[in-house]
Order: sequence, then C-alpha cells, then structure tokens
Amino acid sequence: MAMKYCRFQLNGQAHYGLVESVAGRDSILRILLTAPEESDGDVEGLRTRRIDPIALEEATLLPPVRPSKIVCVGRNYRAHAAELGHEVPQEPLLFFKPNSALVAPGGIVRRPKISQRVDYEGELCVVMGRTCYQPPADEDVRPYILGYTCLNDVTARDLQNKDGQWARAKGFDTSCPVGPVVADGLDLDPWAGVGVETRVNGAVRQQGNTRDFIFPLDAIIRYIAQAMTLFPGDLIATGTPEGVGPLAAGDVVEVGVEGVGTLRNSVVDE
Ligand code: ZN
Repeated sequence: MAMKYCRFQLNGQAHYGLVESVAGRDSILRILLTAPEESDGDVEGLRTRRIDPIALEEATLLPPVRPSKIVCVGRNYRAHAAELGHEVPQEPLLFFKPNSALVAPGGIVRRPKISQRVDYEGELCVVMGRTCYQPPADEDVRPYILGYTCLNDVTARDLQNKDGQWARAKGFDTSCPVGPVVADGLDLDPWAGVGVETRVNGAVRQQGNTRDFIFPLDAIIRYIAQAMTLFPGDLIATGTPEGVGPLAAGDVVEVGVEGVGTLRNSVVDE
C-alpha cells in the first residue's frame, strides 16, 4: 500500500508521523519510532506508536526530512531553459541549497533585503532512502529512492544573474520550503509523468509534468552519485517547469505535486 509520512511537532518534540486517510481527511494516527531515513528503505517495517489522531492540516509540520545536503538540477525542462534565454544543457546542471534555507510547510518565506526580485520555482523533490555512490551502470537506481515531496526552489533572480555562483541567489535563509509529506513511489512514477503545479494566491502560474524532463531521474541520480555520496534523507530537486515569476510580500505560494499534496507558504519582506 502506498504510504506517506511527515515530521511534526507534538508537545515540544519533533516526531515522524505516518499519514493515513481517515474519512477522506489526511491524518496522523501513528508516530514512527525510527527516522524513515534510517530504515534502509523499509519504512513499513518500522515500529510505530498510536497517538490521538491529528488532522494533517492542523499539525505543526516541520520539513519532512533532515538532509545532509540538498542537490538541485537547473534547466531540466526545455521550455523553462528557453524562457530564461538559456541553451538546453548537454549535462545536468547542478547546484546546492544549504540546510539553513529549509522552511517547513506553512512556514514563511522572507524576501531578503539584498534582492529586488525573488521568484518561485515549483519542483518535484526526490528523498533518498539508501546510501548511493557510483552505482554500477546496469544497476536500477529506483531502490535508492525513499519517496517524493514538493520543493519550492525560491530564487533571488537578480543575484543569480549577477553573482556567477548561485550561493546567495539560491541559498538565502527561507529559500527552500519543502513538504508537506514524503510519499513513497508506489503511486508515483516520474519516468511516466507526475504533474507539478505552482499557484500564487490561488492563480496557476506553472503547470509542468516530469515526463518533459530533459534528463530522466535515473540519469540525474547517476550523474550526482558519480561525484558525491548521496545519503539517506538527502534531497534532489529536479528542476522547474516554465512559468517562473516573482513573489511579493503578502503572497501565498503553493507547490502541488500529483500524489504528494500541496506545499503552502506565505511571503513577507525581510
Ligand atoms: Zn530550480
């Protein structure tokens, strides 16, 4: 059975919660006694404890994983590369976001004073389940994936264009909302196609599908893992479709990934 989990705060402590549907409403009924990232891919085998049910939308959610790193792929949709005036890359274009950029579902994105132009980028995000380094060419990399979540690769576009390196543009505090849950891959197949949608104040701004990836997910994972070890819990943001645009103070930005849910954040000026 397909499974979803979240991380949330309960009585001042962080817990991982299994998310189950109760009367059509996503709810947390059990907490996991071990971090899913430490399950070696077998989340269903983890011990759980029952709690009084909490509706997911009423829970105080945290980013659903604690990654050692967040690896991002730039320009992985042709139409998005074109809208920014870039060539389609010959190899995946990689960059990092620091963990200090993470924001919980429902948390606040702060537009930094150092930028005049802060954009949303809705993306499907991979959560690694097993340590992966230089897998053999004929090995299927799917078993290394724990699941999928939504990520907003918030970007200071003016700094990205000016700086050359993207550390400030992609790495400022609050530039990485992620969540609300991690969904295992049973209902989701990014190779076949998963819808990715971004809305600002309810209006649809991006509507993409992972079937339009320039580099398929296995090629991305292999390419990253040729250079560096991917650890359980590490995140891979897979690139954004066309339609990026600015955020203003007061906006509510939502990233929806089919089969995962909706990541919702509000925007303020720093
Ligand atoms: Zn991006």
